[in-house]
Amino acid sequence: MSNKVKPYEKKIVNAVIGFMKAKFNFDAKIIVKKKDKDGLIGDVILNNNSVNNNKFYLHFNPDQSYAMMIQALIHELTHVKQISRKELLPSDDYKAVLWRGKEFISASEYKKLFKKYSEYKKLPWEAEAYSNMKKLYKPFLSSKQWTELSGDANIDFIKQNIGEVKMKKSEIREIIKEELQSLNEGKKVYFTMDNLGSAKYSVSFYDGKKTHPDGSDFYGLHLFKNKKKYEAYIKELKSQGYTER
Ligand SMILES: [Zn+2]
Repeated sequence: MSNKVKPYEKKIVNAVIGFMKAKFNFDAKIIVKKKDKDGLIGDVILNNNSVNNNKFYLHFNPDQSYAMMIQALIHELTHVKQISRKELLPSDDYKAVLWRGKEFISASEYKKLFKKYSEYKKLPWEAEAYSNMKKLYKPFLSSKQWTELSGDANIDFIKQNIGEVKMKKSEIREIIKEELQSLNEGKKVYFTMDNLGSAKYSVSFYDGKKTHPDGSDFYGLHLFKNKKKYEAYIKELKSQGYTER
């Protein structure tokens, strides 16, 4: 399957983006990509790009019906709105999720909820995304962003045939898989210590992702005897986006 977004697919996705931006009055840079992994409908990630640069990668799965794809996009774009309007944020150290300015849940508790769908969907940002998905599908179909879309045989066909969808629980469950990685990307940090045993220089680094089985951050360790190599290594870490802790 080609992973390139076709022109008519792009038009449909952009119509949903335009509808949501107008509805919730937010602006964000959104880059649309196709997802080829089964079951994955989209993902919106809390990371430096989304939180600080207002830049989002939105994925859609072309293997879904258009009705379902549109609803999934409404779900994802609700999260884009939440992050863009600073309603949903990570704490500075990425160890907790803030909701409307208050610490709501720790990152490790949040990750545990991925396995408990019934609890997960009650999180306030999820509750809003699910409610929008159901509530805004029909208004989207009668919005100008959708009704004025034309000039393409594919789109005309889709518009004539798109129906109502009542999603099954299992289908909705698929949609939340997107968030599995949403907090996994924390900050990339390193710190240094000199004269650690026989090694003259040491660098501990955390890639923002790896955790110990208990959920705490996993630090890698590099030891150097040679100062030049040590300095070159730090330069390399910085170029990959690491900051000193
Ligand atoms: Zn969600």
